[in-house]
Amino acid sequence: MEDLHFAPGDAVAVLTAQPLDGCLDYIAPEGGCATGDYVEVPLGPRRVLGIVWGQGISGLPREKLRPVGRVLDAVPMAAVLRRFLDRAAEYTMTPLPMMLRLATRVPGLGSEQALRRVYRRGVREPDRMTDARARVLDALDAWDGAPVTQAELAAGAGVSGSVIKGLVAQGVLEAVDVPRDLPFARLDPARLGHPLSADQSVAASGLRASVASGQYGTTLLQGVTGSGKTEVYLEAVAECLARGRQALVLLPEIALTSEFLTRVEARFGARPAEWHSGVTMTERRRTFAMVGQGQAQMVVGARSALFLPFRNLGLIIVDEEHDSSYKQEEGVFYSARDMAVLRASLEGCRVVLASATPSLETWVNAQSGKYDRCVLSSRHGTASLPDMAAIDMRAEELPGSTWISPTLRKAVEARLEAGEQALLFLNRRGYAPVTLCRACGGQIGCDDCDARMVEHRFLKRLVCHQCGASRPMPEACPTCGVEGRLAAVGPGVERMAEEAAAAFPDARIAVLSSDLFGTARELKAQIAAIAEGAADVIIGTQLVAKGHNFPLLTLVGVIDADLGLQGSDLRAAERTFQLMRQVAGRAGRAERPGQALLQTFQPEHPVIRAILTGAEEPFWTAEAAEREALGMPPFGRMAGIILSGPEVQAVFELGNQLARNAQPLREIGAEVWGPAPAPIARIRGRHRVRLLVRAPRTAPLQAALSRWIAPIRLRGGLRLSVDVDPQSF
Ligand code: ADP
Ligand code: ZN
Repeated sequence: MEDLHFAPGDAVAVLTAQPLDGCLDYIAPEGGCATGDYVEVPLGPRRVLGIVWGQGISGLPREKLRPVGRVLDAVPMAAVLRRFLDRAAEYTMTPLPMMLRLATRVPGLGSEQALRRVYRRGVREPDRMTDARARVLDALDAWDGAPVTQAELAAGAGVSGSVIKGLVAQGVLEAVDVPRDLPFARLDPARLGHPLSADQSVAASGLRASVASGQYGTTLLQGVTGSGKTEVYLEAVAECLARGRQALVLLPEIALTSEFLTRVEARFGARPAEWHSGVTMTERRRTFAMVGQGQAQMVVGARSALFLPFRNLGLIIVDEEHDSSYKQEEGVFYSARDMAVLRASLEGCRVVLASATPSLETWVNAQSGKYDRCVLSSRHGTASLPDMAAIDMRAEELPGSTWISPTLRKAVEARLEAGEQALLFLNRRGYAPVTLCRACGGQIGCDDCDARMVEHRFLKRLVCHQCGASRPMPEACPTCGVEGRLAAVGPGVERMAEEAAAAFPDARIAVLSSDLFGTARELKAQIAAIAEGAADVIIGTQLVAKGHNFPLLTLVGVIDADLGLQGSDLRAAERTFQLMRQVAGRAGRAERPGQALLQTFQPEHPVIRAILTGAEEPFWTAEAAEREALGMPPFGRMAGIILSGPEVQAVFELGNQLARNAQPLREIGAEVWGPAPAPIARIRGRHRVRLLVRAPRTAPLQAALSRWIAPIRLRGGLRLSVDVDPQSF
């Protein structure tokens, strides 16, 4: 894609982030414009931000086109990013304007507030020194030459803005306009990291060489938790920075970044830029600008960081690449892992997918040689992998409504006596998954979803985990009206905390569950406190499975290892295997050996066996063989069509209509399954139905899907979204 220049009066296609299907044509303004330019264009009665995407395409006569308002003074969007958005839109079957929204979701973009007014000492002395004026001058001294705004100065001196204005009028202070954005501190790639083990050095030099080649390629960096994957990929980052290119590290959870940023700072002497939902608007604006100017050397972020306007991207790391949070399933349906590979291929740079338990897709690609593979086979230093064992729940004596078996309890007590920490893992938020009325036998469900309401005792509320609706915990059953007979059934983490408090009365107990923390900052603080020993028994949901270092933690007890195996989802085995291995990996990361105990009713289940023996390669091989036999990804291709609407019947009718008219799919050898209720069958009052399409691996799936859905006219509040490569099937 080359940059095109347009003379005044030429017809140009402009892409906006408005709800349209594609670009609109305008007339190039006086002074002309070029592809990638940010422009302001009229749309109906409004003026909206857009990007010059190419030559006009409508073929409309000039007099029918409106002129571009003006070209903004902003770094134009690079051709490679435009091509990335084009290709991503095509792959995910998303209208281009929606795709653009992901890349321009920045406050104040285009408002040209690149400058801000700051104050410094002028040449004059005040005509009369008052108390307030003296305080202003003191405050200015305290700033020591750093740029300070009127608001900061007024607050620092405890005066009103008029005092400052008065001093400016006298020439005591001088106002200057400076670039709004302070540059980021420089990261120094030449600083030395930890000395690497033999294994790690081999992996690191392989990665360094692949980054140095300056060409596209994907590497799977595989190694058990604690083997030093982060240590090794930071070497690749060092190589990238040393070559003057920018590095992007994607992480699955905000909670990861606190520990991570400190680590990057220790390695490179300065903190990288951050990009996730917890970053302030001002900071986002600054990062966006600095990334575009090539000034931000390294960005650590969530999946949306993939759409930043890097000027010179040299490396992308996708840490915990198997994590399901990389898949966005709202608005634009995309997998950040796959889009990272796409972006790297367009930018001509290396992408590293790091994981202890890679997704089956990635594992197969590495196996077939499509991806390079680096393996770290042991834990760093003296840390060893935890011993894993099953607790056969069929043989344990448990009083009703308790879940900690006598065997697990003894194991926890032993750790507590040794002054170590134990984690009880249960992937269920809230107090109890079911609230049942003992009088009528009814369960309390969400009014708008096909989901049970979950009791959250800390909040004293019932919460729907699908739509977030909540209401106060009632006294009486909403169905039969009888009071005092509601009962909690089954365990959630809050209930486990109660049981643990009774079982281990002298232990300090902490619950780590995403809904118990108002902000990411509180969560980070809690994690840091636990790492330093502020709790003895940690009760956690899958939040704890992800990458935190708890050096004192030596025992992990999995309350219900069978939980993930019950779904009909083909990925259930893969998911359970990954989650259990990750959780077990939390134990014994430092010098103390760890142990993981899995409570299960089916210790001979093949997935539980694979988890216990750690026989990863045989497990993946068996899973891959099963997928291949079924023609499922990555051996075949899949897409989901999700239909939703207020009336269940209308939604199914539309689904049936699609299923009956599947000729375009048959032409490419694809099959259609459904319509069937979607994995989330009702949410926020909307009924959801899904059709699944399976196609041969090399079939032109997107083109066939477009032909298939093109005749559909959506009426009566019906909606259709396409999910290429669905997570569950
Ligand atoms: P992973 O990303 O595979 O889970 P990490 O890179 O986080 O592993 O390493 C686990 C722990 O071991 C970290 O605390 C890290 O600092 C430490 N570590 C790993 N390799 C080394 C090394 N070569 N020298 C010193 N410490 C190391
Ligand atoms: Zn709901």
